[in-house]
Amino acid sequence: MAILGIDLGTTNSLIGAVDSGFPILLANAEGHRSIPSAIHFPESGDPIVGAAALRQRALSPERVVTSVKRLMGKRLSEVEQEHYPYPLVADDEGFVRIALGDGGSLSPEEVSALILKELKATAEAAMGTPMDQAVITVPAYFNDAQRQATKRAGALAGLTVDRIVNEPTAAALAFGLHKSKDHARIAVYDLGGGTFDISILEIREGVFQVLSTNGDTYLGGDDIDHAIAEHLWTTYQPNQSSLAEQDATLQIKFREEAEAAKKALSEATEHLVRMPFIKKDKHFEHALTRETVDRLARPIVDRTKALCLRALHDAKLDLDQLDEVLLVGGSTRMPLVRQFVTDLFQQEANTSQHPDETVAMGAVIQGGILSGSLRNLVLLDVTPLSLGIESFGGLMNVIIPRNTTIPAKAGEMFTNAMPDQSSMLVRVLQGEREMARDNWELGQVEVPFEAGPKGSARIGVQFQIDENGILEVLTRDTKTNKDTVLEIKHAAVDVDDKRVEAMISESVDHAFDDMSERVFTEAKLKSEELLPAVDQALALIGDQLDYGERHAILDATAAVKQAVASNDANQLKQANTTLDDATQQLAALLMQKALADANAGT
Ligand code: ADP
Ligand code: MG
Repeated sequence: MAILGIDLGTTNSLIGAVDSGFPILLANAEGHRSIPSAIHFPESGDPIVGAAALRQRALSPERVVTSVKRLMGKRLSEVEQEHYPYPLVADDEGFVRIALGDGGSLSPEEVSALILKELKATAEAAMGTPMDQAVITVPAYFNDAQRQATKRAGALAGLTVDRIVNEPTAAALAFGLHKSKDHARIAVYDLGGGTFDISILEIREGVFQVLSTNGDTYLGGDDIDHAIAEHLWTTYQPNQSSLAEQDATLQIKFREEAEAAKKALSEATEHLVRMPFIKKDKHFEHALTRETVDRLARPIVDRTKALCLRALHDAKLDLDQLDEVLLVGGSTRMPLVRQFVTDLFQQEANTSQHPDETVAMGAVIQGGILSGSLRNLVLLDVTPLSLGIESFGGLMNVIIPRNTTIPAKAGEMFTNAMPDQSSMLVRVLQGEREMARDNWELGQVEVPFEAGPKGSARIGVQFQIDENGILEVLTRDTKTNKDTVLEIKHAAVDVDDKRVEAMISESVDHAFDDMSERVFTEAKLKSEELLPAVDQALALIGDQLDYGERHAILDATAAVKQAVASNDANQLKQANTTLDDATQQLAALLMQKALADANAGT
């Protein structure tokens, strides 16, 4: 099943999928691969998403919601309301909601879900099939509440979100950097419409780690548009107060012209701005040069400098330790920005990908890896094979399943199978087979504990894989709180692709045999527990049973012994059940005796 890749952006959103082995972005009916993240809520009728919504902004700005991503997972108290032309309210817990004209309101995730639904419909139309699984990107600095809100938005749009991926990681994937086997440190400079993000990543043997992030959630191409719009306005009306003090419709008209001119000037060096009928019969024409736009944009772009330097400092890196600088986000199409980044980082920035499509492309690639449709790529920030320990009877007890995103942490409680046991051997295993012996051993550790009756020890085993793929196996005797730690470097996540494929195909080939062996082993463990317990009980109070019952139990016991010898899982399960049923009365008598003894004792 194909998995969609989605860049749910502050300004623009894109969707794609792997088609016939190639990651591609999908265009909507108008032929656009990117739609504005804008939703128009008309006075009556269904909400409208995308370019059509943005066109309504000049007429009814308060009914067009943009930049909703900034509100995801936020409380009203954390938001600067003056940045939003539409009214915001708080829910009972203080989280932001967007107020609609009719007295109703929507949560940011409900609004985002409308964008996701639109994208999903685009993808389904383009691919000609229903699709309901997705990878969605978020900024690296998004906290858990913001990531959860993004997942909920997906669910509301009818999507199962298989993975939330950091935008810079997705960008690095699109640039193909996961393929370089060695160690690389990269900066991802992402200047979008409303936000600026700088992330420093380290890629080590295909494992991505975010070393640091910095940015400004109110810095981007929009600010450049404002500056250009203000310039156009004062050129047109030199004696009037600023554009910001004019009515909303006029402001939006000028900003749209400004943005169009800015984009044109990323290619051309001069652009003629033509605004007929600004007001009734007023016209405006002005030749705008790239030089002017650069002069206006420069102070805005300059603001990214300190943020970049801080991110480098936090990552404890010097400029010359960066192997690559990636340009991401529509605003990095400006030659000014490209030059600025090259000067700042003292190296040519990598512009080999479309900057406004890389994040979406990375999401598509990640989706392709997850669904298995991009087979030659194995991204090692997931566990390629299951990790676990050997448990009673030689079974594989999985603690971290295959394909778990790292970092990851999971644990389980174990006990002693034998009375008077004073230690337990923890064998750390990797693989997909049901029996421990068929999987690979990564290491082992002997865990000592106080001897006692069977089942008296309480040994917690915890697996923790950090961002670098290092597996730490922590075992704790919960009675004494004594810990034993076993560290396994890389082997847990860094497995040769061929060996991963071989292990998986073996597990598929042996699935049936393995499963019946597991069922048999589990049943045998049960028999081994039942048989001595029945013997003991019979010796103790067997004389209180009538002849028929006693015989039934002995027959059932013999049947269990025979089934164990026969190696037949189903026969053994059946025999265990029969023995269980036959000993109901015996168990009841045993319980009565235990109660009577207890009362006599007091
Ligand atoms: P986001 O990640 O915030 O959703 P994008 O990466 O799509 O945003 O970037 C959108 C911004 O990029 C807008 O401000 C837009 O004006 C700007 N942009 C897009 N194309 C160009 C271009 N050719 N030249 C300059 N700026 C551009
Ligand atoms: Mg973006």
